[in-house]
Amino acid sequence: MVGVLVNGYGSIGKRVADAVAKQDDMKVIGVTKTKPDFEARMAVTKGYKLFAAIPEKKHLFEEANIPIEGTIEDIIEDADIVVDGAPKKIGKANVENVYKKHNVKAIIQGGEKAKDAEDSFNSLWSYNRCYGKDYIRLVSCNTTGLCRTLYAIDSITDILKARVVLVRRAADPNDIKTGPINAIIPDPVTVPSHHGPDVVSVIPKLDGKIMTSAIIVPTTLMHMHSLMVETTGVTKDAVLDAIEKTPRIIKVKASEGIDSTAKIIEYSRDLGRLRYDLNEIAIWEESINVVDNEIYLMQAIHQESDVIPENIDCIRAMLEMEEDNIKSIEKTNRALGLLK
Ligand code: NAD
Repeated sequence: MVGVLVNGYGSIGKRVADAVAKQDDMKVIGVTKTKPDFEARMAVTKGYKLFAAIPEKKHLFEEANIPIEGTIEDIIEDADIVVDGAPKKIGKANVENVYKKHNVKAIIQGGEKAKDAEDSFNSLWSYNRCYGKDYIRLVSCNTTGLCRTLYAIDSITDILKARVVLVRRAADPNDIKTGPINAIIPDPVTVPSHHGPDVVSVIPKLDGKIMTSAIIVPTTLMHMHSLMVETTGVTKDAVLDAIEKTPRIIKVKASEGIDSTAKIIEYSRDLGRLRYDLNEIAIWEESINVVDNEIYLMQAIHQESDVIPENIDCIRAMLEMEEDNIKSIEKTNRALGLLK
């Protein structure tokens, strides 16, 4: 049983903690918070040991009457690995200033750059490359979704060129600071967007073969991708079959009423998922088509949760707990109750 410290118990951190707690080969030894808010109080209620991420702020938790065990400095050396859930750029700083100092392995998240870690993780593509490594970046929600679908396609044909338009949610549901609320923003306005190179950090053989552009729209629930993938030759049935065989991708049908991201989230709520998380990528079955060897499809990404099972697999790879990525994927999926 390995011990995991979650440093930064926010949108990603709290989900990772709950996912670790569901595995039989790892446990949460503590979570950290920067401030004594409701999430800190709930972490304690759930049974997690709470530590101050910033040692000088420990007194704030005591003053707020939230039980606190100590600071990150008191727990970090007991951890076999840290999963960093801190905001963009802070993960990178934590590697340099905290994790390396204490000689502890760490996973940083997709807000960081590829060069800030030894490699970029996806359970299907780079599990073996990350095996036994010390500092790994778990790529973003969009990159994770694209890597899964491109894995399905790559399993049946050669990819000559992938073109992807990403329609991004403006803010997470709990976010009251970002927008827009009345506009569509090309972001970045330059093409390609950073998403293509990010996919290449996981799948080097797609270098020069993937082009992405991205826009932000006023929605909070999910991202959506429209993919156009030129191949050396493939049938629609083969694509459907490959998607069926690829873990963590599900097909949804507009004809059954799942005709929007809102309905996908309703489906997830009906599944009884905690926080309505859909860790799987949802591809609209009706959108899948092949014309002149080019595959077309549309998929939706639940930004807050698709990377969570990958964090669990990444822990197993970095701590050399399971050599076979498919076995780790299956174990994680079973423990989390994923559809496939
Ligand atoms: P968040 O703002 O919801 O949570 C971040 C948490 O880290 C907060 O609790 C904050 O108090 C804490 N924190 C701040 N400074 C810290 C420090 N110095 N040390 C430790 N903790 C600190 O952010 P998030 O959405 O969970 O994003 C975390 C990372 O995950 C980012 O790299 C982000 O790009 C990536 N990510 C986010 C999403 C998403 O949709 N939210 C999806 C995939 C990846």
